Amino acid sequence: MSSLPTTIADELSITLGNLADAATGTVTPTLRIGVTGLSRAGKTIFITALIHNLLTGARLPGFPPMAEGRLIGARLAEHPDNATPRFAYENHLAALTGHPPAWPESTRRISQLRLTLRYQSARWLRSQLGISTLNLDIVDYPGEWLLDLPLLTKSYAEWSAEALALARRPARAAEAKDFLDALSHIDPAREADEVTAETLATSFTHYLRTSRGDARALSTLPPGRFLMPGDLEGSPALTFAPLPPPAATPRHASLYAMLERRYEAYKSVVVRPFFRDHFARLDRQIVLVDALRALNAGPEAVADLETALTSVLACFRQGASNPISRLFTRRIDRILFAATKADLLHHTSHPRLEAILNRLVANAARRAKFAGAETRSLAIAAIRATHEGTVKDNGETLHTIIGTPENGQRLGEVVYDGETEIALFPGDLPENPDSLFKTADSTPHLNFLRFLPPANLPVSETGDPVFPYIRLDRALDFLVGDKMQ
Ligand code: GDP
Repeated sequence: MSSLPTTIADELSITLGNLADAATGTVTPTLRIGVTGLSRAGKTIFITALIHNLLTGARLPGFPPMAEGRLIGARLAEHPDNATPRFAYENHLAALTGHPPAWPESTRRISQLRLTLRYQSARWLRSQLGISTLNLDIVDYPGEWLLDLPLLTKSYAEWSAEALALARRPARAAEAKDFLDALSHIDPAREADEVTAETLATSFTHYLRTSRGDARALSTLPPGRFLMPGDLEGSPALTFAPLPPPAATPRHASLYAMLERRYEAYKSVVVRPFFRDHFARLDRQIVLVDALRALNAGPEAVADLETALTSVLACFRQGASNPISRLFTRRIDRILFAATKADLLHHTSHPRLEAILNRLVANAARRAKFAGAETRSLAIAAIRATHEGTVKDNGETLHTIIGTPENGQRLGEVVYDGETEIALFPGDLPENPDSLFKTADSTPHLNFLRFLPPANLPVSETGDPVFPYIRLDRALDFLVGDKMQ
């Protein structure tokens, strides 16, 4: 049975939360920015670089409050929310500035951090009133969790039917085989037992996670916590899997009935609180997309990424079809789509990367705009791991990127050792993004490797390391600039 999408208690809780925000807001206005994206899209690096640039007063020419000298300073504020872990900024920075530098651990659960910005308003009247202050709450959470929104209106039988139909598709045959084999030995009407539930949940989770591997890069089917469990790893709330419908109405003690109860519990104990306590309180959102990883894996992965992004972005749509719409007492008014790791391409290819990003989010963006949110797309690199060069090949000049591939990265027959710097021609992105969604023959040959983070960073006048970036300043401006006028 499908449970009600919202409850009066939910609405009350959000209203009270927002009232509390508004009450503190009379002292210092607060802007809550959500940072999301599927696993390894670049959330951790984006947030770490953003905070570091603001705290150290880095050069940000595309961010007017900084470029015009109006930003007086930024500092980390006391953690505002006892129930949400703090974003581990210091640990992440330590990894990036270590000897040798390393990429920090990626986002695995929700976390949050508050920065307080002091600035001089650009408006005459406000600037006469003295220095202004803005709290910036940055909320980092796995995009996988947004996949769960449609579950709120789906019964266990409906979700099972969809999940099993997908698992039986030929494209997923290899990953889904073990799960489907396990399922074929089980009668849903049999007596419920914990071991069977666990076996099924484990092989279902394994199937979902292997689909996400680099080679396949098939994204993302709910339940989101099966892909990114956060603090629920191993919890009974995640011990369920889809089952085919039993021939007759299932008994209370049957396996089917047990898994159905678990599914309903997942919705009420895990999904709804996330949307109510975190998502519904965001003002703005950046959605990070690792389009290059999908391009590397081929057209199927690209089409799949589009599907996943459309379901992720459905959450930003307001209206009758969105089961949490009623919960929005505040509304997300800006959404930034960012294609990350643009440093894996020469800058001459960035317009094409932005065109691909636009194509990937086209459906979703149209809907979000319809709901009154302003959207923008940018190709960014929060931390550049490469610089640019050119090589001559048969009289032709090729634009390359130069950096050190991670140990074990492979290009054809060559396996890199994590120490050798190379110049790489990643290939040309197509002029027409549509070709990337078609057959393998129509896609160009592209090479995107994982590079080590930059070493020997330059140091600012204040002695802080300076991370090179691409358009991070413009991303910041879209998210915050208008609030610091
Ligand atoms: P998350 O799962 O979204 O938190 O992803 P991370 O921020 O941890 O990023 C995943 C990986 O992508 C990192 O370990 C890096 O290898 C790579 N990465 C992230 N941002 C950049 C970037 O700006 N440039 C490059 N070259 N690689 C990046």
